[in-house]
Amino acid sequence: HQELHVVGGGLAGSEAAWQLAQRGHRVVLHEMRPSRPTPAHKTDRLGELVCSNTFKSTEPTNAHGLLKAEMRLLGSLILWAADQARVPGGSALTVDRDVFSSAIHDALHAHPNVRVERGEVSEVPSPGIVATGPLTSDALAESIRARLGIESLAFYDAIAPVLSIESIDPELAFRASRWGKETMDGAGEEGAYLNCPMSREEYEAFLDALTTADQASAHDFDKVPYFEGCMPVEEMARRGRESLRFGPMKPIGLRDPRTGKRPWAVVQLRMEDRAGRMWNMVGFQTRLRFPEQQRVFRMIPGLANAEFLRFGSIHRNSYVNSPGALLPHLALKDAPTTLFAGQLTGVEGYTESTATGMLAAINLGRLLRGEEPVLPPTTTMLGALYRYLREADPRHFQPMNANFGLVDELPTPVKDKVVKREQFAQRALADFAAWRDAHVGDGPVALPDGV
Ligand code: FAD
Repeated sequence: HQELHVVGGGLAGSEAAWQLAQRGHRVVLHEMRPSRPTPAHKTDRLGELVCSNTFKSTEPTNAHGLLKAEMRLLGSLILWAADQARVPGGSALTVDRDVFSSAIHDALHAHPNVRVERGEVSEVPSPGIVATGPLTSDALAESIRARLGIESLAFYDAIAPVLSIESIDPELAFRASRWGKETMDGAGEEGAYLNCPMSREEYEAFLDALTTADQASAHDFDKVPYFEGCMPVEEMARRGRESLRFGPMKPIGLRDPRTGKRPWAVVQLRMEDRAGRMWNMVGFQTRLRFPEQQRVFRMIPGLANAEFLRFGSIHRNSYVNSPGALLPHLALKDAPTTLFAGQLTGVEGYTESTATGMLAAINLGRLLRGEEPVLPPTTTMLGALYRYLREADPRHFQPMNANFGLVDELPTPVKDKVVKREQFAQRALADFAAWRDAHVGDGPVALPDGV
């Protein structure tokens, strides 16, 4: 029986190792800590949480809650450990981080099919799973780059907020491309952008709010070498009152159809998904705190009621440009049994990272049996995330968290948001269970004893 290598004993790697081991595979789980620490981890335990201690909502009508409900249909070691370590947090799954990582650590060390090997891995495994996370060591990052091509691995996230189409006011935001034609990078077709026009007074007030808003504090390891295209919008605004008007907010080539005139400044939104339900604020990568993003960006005409599907952020984050570089099941194009999982694939968040670890293990098992890899339907949160990872535009690829803008629309439109989310959740869980029964065998994998 061949040994399978899982590199990275974080959330995705620990989950993947458990999923493989419970299906009878022999697994070597490689973790470089403690001999080689990361700038964020503090212990040598498997499944250590690097920052907050919450897995967010448990309600299936919330995008993170739905993803967790889907994962529970497969049986998740990470969610089991979170249940063991749960502390009061309302409807959020909030944990004691030491109890949490100890539970994962002990469960994997006790598993007869798992061998934990300490030390840095510098080559991608075959067959195996790479789950080394946002702080992947330099040596391994280098070899991933060499394997995939220099353009395929990013080291920093400079994320702009993404808004839901229903929340953008169509009376104020108008469809147009500059000069009514192609954009400079050739990406846009006519009318590809949504434009939020500003008067001089609105621009001045917006600048005042933007330059005085509260920023998220930077960790040392998060110090980002700003280069053009990655500079936070608030930083650019501080460089001079006209910088934005000559930068991402330049109004040239645009006419507001309501006035027939060129606005003083314009915020452009670019389509993020093919269905046009998610819109990215062009050039608005930001370090503002999330509530401040809501407060300040809702001052933009047309965005007064903006729903943020993803907030902006800038931080250290190694991730592969999955849509351009990997197969749909997130494997090397020339080695389909070398899979990627976790934050490294371009998902964002504890739950999302863990979920891709589950699917990587399931697909590695299938491939070794000579079966095709499988992905959940795009009506489910996990299936929709994978669709994003394969279909997003590789020229603008940025990491993504679970959100309802990703899943297929309902067959008949539903106005009421609460009802809509209930229907999304019902459909997703039914489809996920049917998919599991058809492709993954009988029910969830067993979890450690005593539960
Ligand atoms: P990790 O959990 O980081 O696991 C990767 C493991 O691989 C690590 O144990 C590392 O030591 C090991 N490793 C790396 N290179 C090698 C190598 N060459 N050989 C062997 N082992 C190696 N998400 C949230 O949902 N909430 C948050 O609050 C949050 N805060 C974050 C804070 C920071 C500072 C960072 C960087 C990310 C944060 N994230 C957060 C994003 C993300 O969800 C987490 O990073 C999550 O832990 C990712 O899971 P993972 O399994 O992909 O990677």
